[in-house]
Amino acid sequence: MKCATCDSPMIPGGLATQIYRQGESVITVTGIPAVAICSKCDNAIIEWDVAQQVEDMVQPLLKWSKGHSLPDPVVSIAFPYHELAAA
Ligand SMILES: [Zn+2]
Repeated sequence: MKCATCDSPMIPGGLATQIYRQGESVITVTGIPAVAICSKCDNAIIEWDVAQQVEDMVQPLLKWSKGHSLPDPVVSIAFPYHELAAA
């Protein structure tokens, strides 16, 4: 399996990090179980169901700033996976 971005070999398993931006909001999600992660550029393949669950969590946070006057938040979310699957 090769990376779609840089054509390097993909390593099966591992934990992915995804960063979502909207306006000034930055939401970083770490510890997402991945199908495979690129050995070079960290591009990750994530199961659709898993990606959808992350999306469901992130979207309300991205929309939050539209109805509120506080500054757009910078949010870090970590899933508590501790296995060294990325190694
Ligand atoms: Zn890559």
